[in-house]
Amino acid sequence: MKIVLATSNKHKIQEIKDILKDYKIYSWDEFITPFDIVEDGKSFKENALIKSSSVYKKINDENLIIISDDSGISVKALNNEPGIYSARYSKQANDKSNREKLISNLKSLNIKSSFAFYTAAIGISSKFGNFCTHGYMYGKVIDQEFGENGFGYDSLFIPNGYDLTLAQISKEEKDKISHRFKALQNAKYILRALYKATK
Ligand code: IMP
Repeated sequence: MKIVLATSNKHKIQEIKDILKDYKIYSWDEFITPFDIVEDGKSFKENALIKSSSVYKKINDENLIIISDDSGISVKALNNEPGIYSARYSKQANDKSNREKLISNLKSLNIKSSFAFYTAAIGISSKFGNFCTHGYMYGKVIDQEFGENGFGYDSLFIPNGYDLTLAQISKEEKDKISHRFKALQNAKYILRALYKATK
């Protein structure tokens, strides 16, 4: 069985390939022309499964396992916003403007930092059905950007136990502690079971 990753986000692709380095991961554009998926779920899980199951249906090949990632950051002082709307928090819906909106919302509350956490949901769709695993990373967001690595909100997020933002640590270090790493560690149990079931 081949594992196909249903995302066009180059940062996610890189992280997922690095974390699942023991598996050969194919990209969905090797099988179909990527298409727009309406993420109208009410949770990370629903959106991850919308992505993996719609790509599974479209490719329509029982020999494939489709995996997807739906993820985002929740900030306590902002009533857990942006959450599932992390990618489209600002009107322009790009990483830079999303960070600017987060900083401006912290400033309007007159605070310099807030408890925050990342969530990653990994959707898995195959002929045996749909599955989802989660991973979390806890820490705080601050009102200033530091570092150049990573993507999204990484330059604003300091994980628990660190003095640096995720954008100031190496990608290898992020991959050891991230929400995506933890969700994928859990996903490996399902992937192993799916492989076994086909033997
Ligand atoms: P999705 O593509 O709908 O799952 O949206 C994910 C969004 O959440 C990204 O565009 C980022 O804004 C944010 N995000 C998710 N994971 C990370 C991460 O590891 N670092 C920084 N931002 C992230």
